[in-house]
Formats: sequence, structure tokens, C-alpha cells
Amino acid sequence: MGDELTRKSASELAALVAGGEVAAVEVAQAHLDRIEAVDSRVRAFLNVDADGALEAARTVDKKRAAGERHGPLAGVPLAMKDVVVTKDVVTTAGSKILEGWRPPYDATISARIKAAGIVMLGKTNMDEFAMGSSTENSAYGPTHNPWDLSRVPGGSGGGSAAAVAGYEAPLAIGTDTGGSIRQPAAVTGTIGHKPTYGGVSRYGLIALASSLDQAGPCTRTVLDAALLHEVIGGHDRCDSTSINRPVPPVVTAAREGAAAGSLAGVRVGVVRELGGEGYQPGVLAAFESSVETLRGLGADIVEVSCPHFEYALAAYYLILPSECSSNLARFDAVRYGLRVGDDGSRALEDVMALTREAGFGPEVKRRIMIGTYALSAGYYDAYYGQAQKVRTLIARDFGAAFEKADVLVSPTSPFVAFGLGERMDDPMAMYVNDLCTLPASLAGTPAISVPAGLSEGLPVGLQIMAPAMADDRCYRVAATFEAAVERISPPAAVLT
Ligand code: GLN
Repeated sequence: MGDELTRKSASELAALVAGGEVAAVEVAQAHLDRIEAVDSRVRAFLNVDADGALEAARTVDKKRAAGERHGPLAGVPLAMKDVVVTKDVVTTAGSKILEGWRPPYDATISARIKAAGIVMLGKTNMDEFAMGSSTENSAYGPTHNPWDLSRVPGGSGGGSAAAVAGYEAPLAIGTDTGGSIRQPAAVTGTIGHKPTYGGVSRYGLIALASSLDQAGPCTRTVLDAALLHEVIGGHDRCDSTSINRPVPPVVTAAREGAAAGSLAGVRVGVVRELGGEGYQPGVLAAFESSVETLRGLGADIVEVSCPHFEYALAAYYLILPSECSSNLARFDAVRYGLRVGDDGSRALEDVMALTREAGFGPEVKRRIMIGTYALSAGYYDAYYGQAQKVRTLIARDFGAAFEKADVLVSPTSPFVAFGLGERMDDPMAMYVNDLCTLPASLAGTPAISVPAGLSEGLPVGLQIMAPAMADDRCYRVAATFEAAVERISPPAAVLT
């Protein structure tokens, strides 16, 4: 029974709990048992909160018994990326500098998840402060891809994606600054949606780059992602960039999209610049066959050109380091976590320097240095200012493309999951994993990744992008596509 429960989707589990067929405690226990059985190999979790999960599940069961109303995901387990603060539950952002830190408050999304009766199982592994594309930059060791344990699960949210792919949780939260929800989804054969910037509160996310960061759902079905999106989305007065408008009708779109079985009248734009040289041939083949599937469903396929997308990588790697060099200044040995060398013999500045030296990993230091340089007097206009102009040009490219198409599609990542350790010595080889996901991040527009078949026996993702606040379009097209293609799951032999 336990293993059967872990194979079910979130919406199926919610229905079983709501109907009284299975207790939420049983669902939570089944997932905790699965974690116990496989996570020493996957290492998706940094911290499992079994007591907290069972307690939350008991509360759901009690409320049900008392006849209280259930949220649509009540009693369903969730894995939370460790960059989201959770009251009294250790939150590290994958960094030594926050080792053992117990936040005194909940992020808005943590609070909304609790209030919905969703059961948090624990916190998932990630690249340190969400910098990376493989989860190998975590200070606590890498996560392994449930499709092939010798490969990466993508990043930075590899822990969340691996937990979902490995049946350790049906729901997870990721955060996406340049692709960290979508790229791990692509290489683990799961769903990941980056909402419109401002669509989901950033209050209580440990900031990487504030103008780009956005939390979103990671799941195994499009409907589950929409259900979770609806729980976490919507206005929050604690986040000044939160959009004060209703959440787009994502759940309705997912249901209607699956039921319709047709994309007649939908204009799908294939972005010319997101393909070709540098992309693995197997990825391109899977993408082409996905486009044929969309055409077969009745979509009107058009080619669009977004000439400035080619500068997205360069612009992103100036904007992101600039913002993170400023955001990470708060880790100063005074306010949170680690403090090194505070024995009374040293000046405060020296304690700060020793703490940051010991607490940050190499990628974090690299980006702080690049960002500090790019923002310094005399270089600001040449680098940061210039990158912001490119960002505007990318947003304009999107605007023009959305006049010709309702959604845009591309591969989610140029590559399938690569081997652990393969790209760690070459930052550029790591950065190019996000070639396809960066434009939507820079423009603040929504994008989803859905499984689109295999290459070399490994998952490939299809990215579907929509205009700002039209997240429902991503879900509608993704759900229709999902219903038309064969479902993929990791080979059972890997995690038996
Ligand atoms: N891989 C990208 C980076 O290293 C994206 C990270 C993210 O989205 N958090 O910055």
C-alpha cells in the first residue's frame, strides 16, 4: 500500500484523503518510508521533519473528522526547497554560512502551504544560495538523479526535482531565478513552472537576485502544478513587487487543456534562436517531435525570431552577480548562522571576513566578486547599466513574438542530465545549461517545462512560455500536450 500511495499524483491523494479512504497520516508515513528507503542514494533532502509532517497530517485528519472544510491539496506531502524560510525548521540555502539556522518566521508561501493543510516533509538540497545548474554547488554534497544515480538532477533546485521524480514527494517547491525550477524539471522528467514575476510572494525567500527570483511548483502532473500554484500565488502586502491581481485561472486551464485534447486555434511560436548549434542532437530531435505533436493537436505552428535572446546569458551573468553581491552582504557574522574567529582578539571586520571566507563556497565568492566589480564606480554604466538595457530589448522581443503567437516553445535545456563532476571545473559549461530559460527570467514572463520524451534514455523537457500574467496559457497547452504524449518515469531498477 505504501509504495502504491507514493506513485499517486497529488490530486489523487487529495481525493483519497478528502473521501476518507486513506488517512493523511498514512500518506505522510508512506512518503517518509520511501525517503528512508531511497534518500541515502538520491540525497534530495537536507533535512527531513518527520515529526512535523506527522503532526501536520494528524491535524488534517482531525479537521476532516470534525467535518471542517478541506483545501484541494489537504493531506498531500510536499518537499520544500531549502531557500524558503520555514519557522523553527532549519533553513540553510545549501550554505555552510547558515548551517543550523532556525528561522523565527515563515515565508508567505510556507504559511500558505501550512494553511492549506499541505504536509511539509522536509527541506531539499540545492546549489548554494541557488547558484548553479547541477546541485553540485551545495555545501552538503550533491543530489543524484533518480533516472541514473551517476548523473546530476539539474539545479539549482535539484533536490526538489529529484524528490518528485523519485516518488519521495508528489509536490515540491522550487525557486527560479534563471531556470532553477525548469531545468531540473527537464532533466528529471518532471513538471516545473516559473510563475510571472510578482505572481508568487518573495517574502521569506532567501534572496539571490531580487528582480528575477520567483518560487513555483514542481510536480509529476500539470494539474498538480496548477493546484499548488493556486495555493501559493496571489497578492502579498509583505512583498512590494507582488502583483495585486487575482491568480490567473491555472487550475481551470489545466483541467480544460487535458479534457480538450485539441489545440485548434492556438498559435505556437517556435523561437528560432533557441535551438541549433550547441544543442544535443537528441534534444533537438525530441523537441522537433514535440512540435509535430502540437501540430497534430491542431496548433498553428509559426516561427518567430527573438534576436536579442542571444545576449541573455551575458546580461544575466552581470545582473545576477550584481544583485547577489548586494543581497549576500547581509551574511555578516552578526545576524545569522556562522561566526568564525570571534574570540575577543579580532576587530569586527576581521570576524566578518573570516566568516565569509569559511562560510561561502567558490561559486558564491566568484559571483560576489563579479557583482562587486560590475557595480563599482566607473564600471556601473558599462556593465550593469548595459545589461539592464539588453534586458529591455529581450522583453521587447517577447512583446513582438507574442503578437504572432499565443505561446512560445523551445527545449527547456540544450542537454540531458550530465554526469556528476563533469562540468564543475568550467563555470561557462555550467552556465550554458540555462540558455533557454534565461529570456523568460529576464522578461519576468511565465514558463513551464513538461516532459517531452527521451534522448539517450534520459528525459528531455519542452518549455512553453506565455506573456506576463497569462500563466494559465502555459498550463493549458502543457496539459493538452501531456495528455497526448506517453508518460515517462525513471527506470524502476535504479531505486529498488
Ligand atoms: N543556473 C542559474 C544560475 O546559476 C539559475 C539559478 C536559479 O535559477 N536559481 O544562476
